[in-house]
Amino acid sequence: MKTPTIIILSGPSGAGKTTLLNKVFRKKNIKGKFIRAISYTTRKIRPKEKNGRDYFFISKRKFLQLREKGFFLENQKVLDNYYGTAKYFYDRAVKENKNLILCIDVKGGMYLKKKQKEGKIVTLFIAAPSELDLFKRLKMRTEAMQTIQKRITLAKKEMKVSKQYDSIIINKDLSKSLKELEKVILRAT
Ligand code: 5GP
Repeated sequence: MKTPTIIILSGPSGAGKTTLLNKVFRKKNIKGKFIRAISYTTRKIRPKEKNGRDYFFISKRKFLQLREKGFFLENQKVLDNYYGTAKYFYDRAVKENKNLILCIDVKGGMYLKKKQKEGKIVTLFIAAPSELDLFKRLKMRTEAMQTIQKRITLAKKEMKVSKQYDSIIINKDLSKSLKELEKVILRAT
């Protein structure tokens, strides 16, 4: 049994992480080698999201109960909601001899990089080409103006942490970013 490599993907909401990850995960050479963790969150479900596919949407009470029981490999509060990666995804990766991909915020990413002693950790930051671009993408999601503002303020803070990541992809052209992402992921295994 080999210790899984953990790939951590971070970046502001709206930078395109999820779209890129969904696309890269359709590729057979990646699908066969990786497990993609589905996070638990207390955030409200968005119109196009599906419980159990995009996230496990749970109440704050349930989240805190799980956290108390040591259910999470890592967890963080991002803006006003809790997010966490369940330990069982890591255990599953060990059992199935696969690696693990996590799409988590910079605090969670940096925490795991320090804490996780087993296996290799590869951190990758996905950035939007500009603040205006990020704003447009967030607006398309029909988020409330106040939420968009909060996310942009957070994005600026996250950009500062991006310097501590192993690689950065500026997501200007989706197909180019996809190729870059695939390369980084395959190089890590
Ligand atoms: P969103 O609400 O836009 O889906 O996600 C907000 C932020 O929470 C994003 O940066 C996303 O990557 C992060 N996030 C999602 N799942 C997790 C998780 O399990 N742990 C941590 N630390 N952050 C997460």
